[in-house]
This record gives sequence, C-alpha cells and structure tokens, in this order.
Amino acid sequence: SLVGKTALVTGSSSGIGLGIASVLASKGANVVVHGVGALDEIDRVARTIAQQHEVKCVASNADLLKGEEPVKAMVDLSHSALGGPVDILVNNAGIQHVCPVEDFTLEAWERIMAVNLTAAFLASRAVLPAMRENKWGRIVNIASVHGVVASANKSAYVAAKHGLIGFTKALALETANSGVTANAIKPGWVLTPLVEAQIQARAATSGRSFEEEKDDMLREKQPQRQFATPEDLGELTAFLCSQAAANMTGESIAMDGGWTAQ
Ligand code: NAD
Repeated sequence: SLVGKTALVTGSSSGIGLGIASVLASKGANVVVHGVGALDEIDRVARTIAQQHEVKCVASNADLLKGEEPVKAMVDLSHSALGGPVDILVNNAGIQHVCPVEDFTLEAWERIMAVNLTAAFLASRAVLPAMRENKWGRIVNIASVHGVVASANKSAYVAAKHGLIGFTKALALETANSGVTANAIKPGWVLTPLVEAQIQARAATSGRSFEEEKDDMLREKQPQRQFATPEDLGELTAFLCSQAAANMTGESIAMDGGWTAQ
C-alpha cells in the first residue's frame, strides 16, 4: 500500500502519466498531478482522481521548458498542498518530434532535451534531499524502447531517452544504500495523444485510414500487436514503489510487447 506516501507524476494530465497517477492514487498515495496548459483543466483531472480514490491531489502546470523555477514550484506544491515532501517521483512528461536529422531545428532538439531529459534531472535534484532524510524514496523515469534502440526520424527523442536511462543508472549508484531507488520503464507503443498524433501524420501522408496506419505501426515494431495501456504502466510503476522492489535499482524494464526482443 502507498497510504501516507506522496507522489509527483510529471505529465499526468494525459496518457501514460494519467494512468500512473490513477494507479498510485488507487494504492492510497496523494498525488501532485501535473501537465502543461490551463491550470483549471489540470485541476479538473486532479479533483477526479482525488474523488475516485479518496486521496488528496493538487494540480501543477509548471512548464518544463522554462528551467529551474517552475520545477521548484512544482516540487514545493507537495509540501504546501499535500503536507509532506515528494516520496515518489515519476518523471513521465515527454514530447516527440518526427523529422530527419538534416531538417531538425535546434529549437525542436532543445525542446525535446528540456522536457524529456533535463526536467528529470531538475526534478530528481529537487526531491532527493528529503528522500535521503526520510531514508525512503522512489524515482521512476518513463523512458522508452527508444532508450535502447532507435527509429529513423526520432533522433532527439532517441538521444534523450538513451540519456534518461544513463541518468537513471547514475542516480541509482549515488543513492545506493540510502533507501532511495531509481529505475526506468521502457514502454513500446501505448495509444495516447502522443502516438495518435503520429498515426494521424502517417495517415495524412499516405492517404490511408487511421486504423490501417495504426495496425501497420504495431506490425512494424511490436510482435504482440497490442498496445500496453497507461494502467498497465501504472501497475508496473506501483511495483517499483513497493517493498518487494527495494533491491531493484538502476534497472530499466521494458513493457513493449516484444519490440526489443527482436
Ligand atoms: P501525452 O502526450 O499523452 O502526455 C504527455 C504529458 O507531458 C502531458 O501531461 C503534457 O501536459 C506533458 N508535457 C508536455 N510538454 C510539457 C511541458 N513543456 N511542460 C510540462 N509538461 C509537459 O504522452 P504519453 O504518450 O502519455 O507520454 C508520456 C511519456 O511516455 C513520455 O515521456 C513519452 O516519451 C513516454 N512514452 C510514450 C510511449 C507511447 O507509445 N505513448 C512509448 C514510450 C514512451
């Protein structure tokens, strides 16, 4: 049970993060629900989770493109609104940009690095002192199969996700024997807005239907031709937060329907 714990799940207003926030709340954790955009919309998500699972939630719309200040404000919300420091940090917020290297703008590259990699460093740095003091903490980084293999036209994303897995290992070594663990999860395809946008772009280029492109996408990469769900990823995250996982650290676990078995 995660009763009495406080979780901060970045990018939990949508997709995988929302699934993770819901599952952690279902185990009793209070949650900082976070995403980019209008605060009242994120607040609506936070209130729904709080009501469903009878926990406390608070909303943050810290923009992870804006450096240290918003990250600090997001982490501090745990104290001010939920009554304690962050015990569980899930670095999940992420963005994608599909484009060949020659056409990739520096701006697009830097945006991906900021949200997918630098924000995880900043948030981890901000939560670690209290985790060390409490002698308990869990950091779960939502990487990707693209943290260990590549796909064409996703250079920045692949670089950032490889970096995130490396960062996870460094965190694990630095926190060894402190009660804090750091692990990464590598999802394959999960049907979220991030992936729907890619399917739509493929359909727009090919003139084929959304359904056809969706099936092709699975056939190309994911032998088990089914999407994992945000809730499945939430359950895996909850396992990493459990006592049974106390001796797992620096690991990265795939939930990819066989993608990286090939
Ligand atoms: P999503 O688009 O549904 O959600 C992304 C979340 O990140 C949203 O809550 C959004 O508000 C937040 N976010 C985006 N830009 C932000 C910014 N500048 N500041 C603050 N928050 C910001 O995407 P998703 O598919 O649920 O992806 C979640 C994570 O899972 C990402 O790290 C992604 O790389 C990873 N992932 C997804 C898949 C997949 O198939 N969907 C596969 C592997 C890994």
